[in-house]
Amino acid sequence: MNNSILETAKELAPIFADRAAHWDKTRTYCWSNVQDLAQAGLMGMSLPVAYGGKGASFFDVALVVEEIAKACTLTARVVVEANMGGIAAVMAYGTDAQKAFCAPIVLAGDKPAICITEPGAGSAATQMKTTAKKRGGVYLLNGAKHWITGGGVSKLHLVFARVFDETDTELGIGAFIVYADPMSGKLPAGFKILGREHTMGLCGMPEAELQFTNLEVGAEWLLMPPSGLARGFADLMNAYNSQRIGAGTIALGVATGAFERACDYLHHREQFGRPLAEFQGLQWMVADMDTQIHAARLMLHEAAKSRGPNGSIFPDMAKAARAKLFASEMAIKVVNAALQMFGARGYSDREPLERMYRDVRMFTIGGGTAQILRTQVAGAVLGMKTPQTRHGYVAATPRDIAAE
Ligand code: FAD
Repeated sequence: MNNSILETAKELAPIFADRAAHWDKTRTYCWSNVQDLAQAGLMGMSLPVAYGGKGASFFDVALVVEEIAKACTLTARVVVEANMGGIAAVMAYGTDAQKAFCAPIVLAGDKPAICITEPGAGSAATQMKTTAKKRGGVYLLNGAKHWITGGGVSKLHLVFARVFDETDTELGIGAFIVYADPMSGKLPAGFKILGREHTMGLCGMPEAELQFTNLEVGAEWLLMPPSGLARGFADLMNAYNSQRIGAGTIALGVATGAFERACDYLHHREQFGRPLAEFQGLQWMVADMDTQIHAARLMLHEAAKSRGPNGSIFPDMAKAARAKLFASEMAIKVVNAALQMFGARGYSDREPLERMYRDVRMFTIGGGTAQILRTQVAGAVLGMKTPQTRHGYVAATPRDIAAE
């Protein structure tokens, strides 16, 4: 990557830091930051040069995300979703027409929304009920999604659904590129935004509930994964590994930002006639925080540079899961410790620590919970499939895997 992208991110970070409390308090989306990101070429920097991007690698994106997350968690999420996850899946698996349609929208400032979770299908994503039934040249989408990040501000939506052919035979889980611009006030017929969650942190980002009722989507907007629809969900989830690295890196950035602020405070705040930095009880906390941050960064960078099997362009699943798991749990502990170092001041909104603490709490939940990530890591280490349904475990023994 051109070093200037990272330098640009470092220049923008203080501007984003100044605005961060505003988005949090007013629960508004960071539109002016998005404009700055688009102008600086940080929206869609991972897109191939042929489509107007900079061809930045996931590792390059991770470096930028960490810098921005130190300043504003919300804005870092925009950067992740404009370079990893849904748009990365489109760029990897899409047709030329799909890529040519999506790329300029993202480059201009759109953060695509990835729509998987449903009220009855959270960790068990494959239990989703949303259907896409082929009728002539279109699919009719029916179902509901919730906790959709950016629902209400995003234009591009990657909607996951069970795909059926003309005879209503189920073919597998696929993803559809759905364009719906909520800011224009004109949504396609059958596409409704039912409302948004009132969240603990990341308050400027809408987490919305969407409903599809006979939503017509042209057949050409089905994103066809390389393994075909029957095994396509696994391909789509591979793309999601990049998003997991993005989420883990945001957690890392928030932890680093809180840690740097706390270290500075320890030098300036005096009690018992000397700076807090001179107390060994706090020095050992600093050492533990520093060690944890370094470990998380190494794991995330290893994961960001890795590739999954069979020529995948996406990161290795287990490395991504391990890194996000460690970074997200580390960040909650480190931000909590940083807040503690500020004493009462840390508990007040005079400092950004209380916001960072609320923001960072999310990362062990969204994009694969800590429990599900542990299950993935354990499966990879033990060389076992780890189906979580009551009867699936019995069927998938290590011997079955060896025979595959
Ligand atoms: P559940 O699956 O109901 O789990 C509840 C608890 O049980 C969790 O602690 C979980 O770890 C545990 N659990 C479940 N199964 C097991 C098991 N087999 N073994 C051990 N423990 C288990 N989804 C999207 O599709 N798009 C988005 O943009 C998006 N953004 C999000 C943003 C935020 C801020 C949040 C909080 C969530 C977002 N999600 C999104 C949804 C997210 O992916 C789900 O919340 C997550 O997959 C967990 O599902 P759930 O909340 O239904 O919890």
